[in-house]
Amino acid sequence: MNHEKMINISTKRGFLWPSFEIYSGVSGFTDYGPLGAILKNNIMQLWRKQYIAGEGFYEIESPTVTPEEVLKASGHVDNFTDPMTQCDGCKDVFRADHIIEEVTNLEVEGMTNEELDKIVKKHNVNCPNCGDKLSEIWNYNLMFKTNIGAKGNKTGYMRPETAQGIFILFKRLSRFFKNKLPFGTVQLGKAYRNEISPRQGVIRLREFTQAEAEIFVDPENKTHPKFKTIAGEKLVLNSQKTQIEGKDPITITAKEALENGIVANEILIYQIYLAKKFLKELGIPDEVLRFRQHLPNEMAHYAIDCWDVEVKTDRYGWVEIIGIADRGDYDLKSHSKYSNEELNIFIQYEEPKIISKTIAKPNMAKFGPSFKQNAPKVKSFLEDIDGVMVEKIKASIEKDGIYEALIDGETFEIQSEHITFEDVEEEIKGKKIIPHVIEPSFGIDRILYSVLLHSFHKAENEEDKDYFKLANSIAPIQVGVFPLMNKNELNSLATEITNNLRNSGFMVDYDTSGTIGKRYARADEIGVPIAITIDYDTLEDNSVTIRDRDTEKQKRVNIEDLKEVVGNYFN
Ligand code: AMP
Repeated sequence: MNHEKMINISTKRGFLWPSFEIYSGVSGFTDYGPLGAILKNNIMQLWRKQYIAGEGFYEIESPTVTPEEVLKASGHVDNFTDPMTQCDGCKDVFRADHIIEEVTNLEVEGMTNEELDKIVKKHNVNCPNCGDKLSEIWNYNLMFKTNIGAKGNKTGYMRPETAQGIFILFKRLSRFFKNKLPFGTVQLGKAYRNEISPRQGVIRLREFTQAEAEIFVDPENKTHPKFKTIAGEKLVLNSQKTQIEGKDPITITAKEALENGIVANEILIYQIYLAKKFLKELGIPDEVLRFRQHLPNEMAHYAIDCWDVEVKTDRYGWVEIIGIADRGDYDLKSHSKYSNEELNIFIQYEEPKIISKTIAKPNMAKFGPSFKQNAPKVKSFLEDIDGVMVEKIKASIEKDGIYEALIDGETFEIQSEHITFEDVEEEIKGKKIIPHVIEPSFGIDRILYSVLLHSFHKAENEEDKDYFKLANSIAPIQVGVFPLMNKNELNSLATEITNNLRNSGFMVDYDTSGTIGKRYARADEIGVPIAITIDYDTLEDNSVTIRDRDTEKQKRVNIEDLKEVVGNYFN
């Protein structure tokens, strides 16, 4: 299996290290070693390049500790749960759906706890450790709880996703974007989920990194200006229909997916395409990717439609690495309700609209005698009502000669002498709307795992080697610089070349130990795309050898041209 070898090398060479190792470790956490940390940053930089520079979005950074009211409004306090069960014997706890799937091979995602309990009984699912009986399943909230402040009387949680930080800034953001839709805001940072029994390395962490974009759009216009440019792109889609019918995913163009109603709108498809493009740039081939639509019963509490990008792995099967959701107006509506703030945007029409309507004009001469001290109250009632209500009052007076208005709990009889109806035209410049949100949510750790897995080349014979064939755009070390012999005159020239390349912004590994063959092998193993060797000829002709990791081809290059040649390699 590639997974095992890949993990061995990535541990040995400083990509991924177990956390808290000298204290026996804690599962669900990972450390990124020196090369892993650079690789992760490079992936995040490429993501920023695509979504910030490429799409014109902006990045914000908000706190990871979040007060309870935010997550109450977002639904996480009540709904962000996984089904949990405990062994009656050894008292170990498990994620119920996961052990049921492992034992029965059934797909149980989205089932209720009662349905899961029935399967446990029917299929005799017992504790995987000691074989004892499992308890009834209950909902376990995944958030890490904490106290804010020295008095400890304010409850907070470590954020379970970066998205909420963006939603609660909506008012300021919409002003920043000059109240024009669509606009996109991104956040990259840590998210925390106290997963029940994580046993899948970086695939299931309790502290992980997300890169999320929240794209605020007009609910009546989910078109995308760049859709035309990607209409012919082929996508492998595992829709609700193909899953329900037990069929294979279909390969279809973006245009066909829209026309056949498989993906709901242009923005969602465009985001699916962008995710695919990003993964390709990271070196993850199309063949190991597929896009799976959530089934109605597995959709998150906020989602209208959701597509997962899944990657094929030899160890964990198909793994979700990105979720692309149409969150509708769920978050803004809910934060608006809980915070009592208007979270909407005024959309100006291109041309003002003229509408005809009937208004009710109070006849003040008759108001005083009829309504006495309540006259102002009845007057403001008539002035505030909308067109539908005016029509209702008019119809009632025409039919019965009277309308009984309930104002602040008191009934007032409005008759035809109190009111005249007038048809007027009104110019409407725009309207207030609550934007919908389309959200691509990337799990950086799972993506990094996929990059390592799918760039890993396992040796096929004696002459071959194990190495990470990392894409040039993300390789943590870009250039190896090796003096052929550990001799002063070669070393000083090699150091000068190293310093010059570092000053030009390249990540360089200067290595003098062992044979040149060993140094090439070590550099290849960690995915260094090119190596430069300084030999005795260099002292004569001022040229060095550049060797390509993948082809192992070598060429001589003049030292003066080195910066340009290396630069071309990485552009
Ligand atoms: P979600 O908000 O659950 O749709 O998650 C968005 C993305 O975050 C997923 O596609 C994963 O890549 C990543 N993710 C979610 N949970 C975890 C976890 N426990 N460990 C690592 N990555 C995660």
